[in-house]
Amino acid sequence: MDKEQYLGVSVSPYTYEEIIADIGKRMEEGLQSTVIAVNPEKVITANHDPLIKELINESTYQIPDGVGILVASKLKNGDVRERVTGVDMMGRLLQFAAERGHGVFFYGAREEVVRTAKEKLEASIPNLHIAGYANGYVDDQEALIKQIQESGASLLFVALGSPRQELWIKKHMGELPNIKVFQGVGGSFDVYSGRVKRAPALYRKLGLEWLYRLMKEPKRLKRQMALPKFLWKVLTER
Ligand code: UDP
Repeated sequence: MDKEQYLGVSVSPYTYEEIIADIGKRMEEGLQSTVIAVNPEKVITANHDPLIKELINESTYQIPDGVGILVASKLKNGDVRERVTGVDMMGRLLQFAAERGHGVFFYGAREEVVRTAKEKLEASIPNLHIAGYANGYVDDQEALIKQIQESGASLLFVALGSPRQELWIKKHMGELPNIKVFQGVGGSFDVYSGRVKRAPALYRKLGLEWLYRLMKEPKRLKRQMALPKFLWKVLTER
């Protein structure tokens, strides 16, 4: 299955299971992989910003986060079968790491948030080994890189918001040969710490997470205008 292109931005049409299986294989070959979440807002940004477009397109997996990407793929007869969200992809990768005995490292968010996320996940995923963590406001980057590399972790989750986290990963992955999987996870530590609630299951099932978030935070409307703009542009794209 080939990657799909929306306004020149790549999207991987793979499910959680397919990505995990492929990552397992790549790890055995000693290859590093990067996971980036793609949604209509990011595609619109990338459409105006060649550097962001390159950053997305050179990632190993561009997961179709955001219902807009799924809708676009359906309208264009593409192969995307389900949403693959950043927060759930992280959950699957943690499960995978626990089963295979790989350590993980968390970098980002406020100290209390990242610590609570670590504690809650350790309590809920048997055999999960969180080899270390650092909040997203540490200054000494050199010490941080050393801490991550020496932790023995193989998977790194970076929560600094987008595109800062993806830029950070691009800049530092060469200095972190022990890390084989990098994922930029945005607000996921906030979710796993319990600080931010996800939309109720029904909204998620119906693909209406955006509506729930809009009701909770009406000022998101501006960001969400990217969705109709995205669909219009994709449908009129030659
Ligand atoms: N953050 C951080 N360091 C910074 C700026 C932001 O660790 O210098 C964290 C912030 O605490 C939050 C996350 O990055 O946990 C941002 O999540 P947001 O929901 O804004 O990201 P998005 O998913 O919208 O890109």
